[in-house]
Amino acid sequence: MRKQIAAGNWKMNLSLEEGQTLCHALKSADRPQNVLTILGVPCPYLKSMHDICIDDSICIAAQNVHHEKNGAYTGETSVSMVKSLGIDYVIIGHSERREYQKESNEMLKTKVDLALEASLTPIFCCGESLDVRKSGAQNDFVSQQLKESLFHLEGADFSKLIIAYEPIWAIGTGETASPQQAQDMHHALRTFIAAQYGQDIANGISILYGGSVKPGNAKEIFGQADVDGGLVGGASLKADDFTQIIHSF
Ligand code: PEP
Repeated sequence: MRKQIAAGNWKMNLSLEEGQTLCHALKSADRPQNVLTILGVPCPYLKSMHDICIDDSICIAAQNVHHEKNGAYTGETSVSMVKSLGIDYVIIGHSERREYQKESNEMLKTKVDLALEASLTPIFCCGESLDVRKSGAQNDFVSQQLKESLFHLEGADFSKLIIAYEPIWAIGTGETASPQQAQDMHHALRTFIAAQYGQDIANGISILYGGSVKPGNAKEIFGQADVDGGLVGGASLKADDFTQIIHSF
């Protein structure tokens, strides 16, 4: 049985106090035991949110790590720094970082390696642009992202990953992939993974959908056979909305 996961991504939003209030609200909300809740919070808040959530099965994720272990990289955060705060997850390869920070598949491969070496679980994001979707090449494009950043891993390491399929045209746009579009891509990715690592590993890996998930559409999307939850941006900033999403499995 694959893990069902509701992961939030706060991006560069909320004050420290607003973040703390949100964590306290999620902690006190009734949450199903079988759903793993992860919050991707801004780097300066990692420790504070972790300390608030630690006893309540809400895990905290960094939104990024640097691709070098340490050194003269002013303003950057290393995997060991994140790990030293007690954090267990990191989002790697979000499309906003691929676009604005020009993160390549090759660089993301290095980040994945460093994260795994430090026992941080990568939530690896992939997804195509609208142009690629319109051309019909989305399956090849997303498969290539996996191949170039992840397929060098041994099966045992690959099994530790969480994958998030996030079509860029649906992120923060209010436009959502239809449940069938999400299912088709998740199924294609699982098939692609099975060809590389075998069906058991493919069946065991959680693949999340991201792109304008809201309380009103989460149930139908999460109800698809190959969708194991969501990576949620905007709707993870409101306790009520995110709690409803956590209850949508
Ligand atoms: C995201 O940040 O990964 C995301 C999917 O954002 P939103 O839910 O706001 O589209």
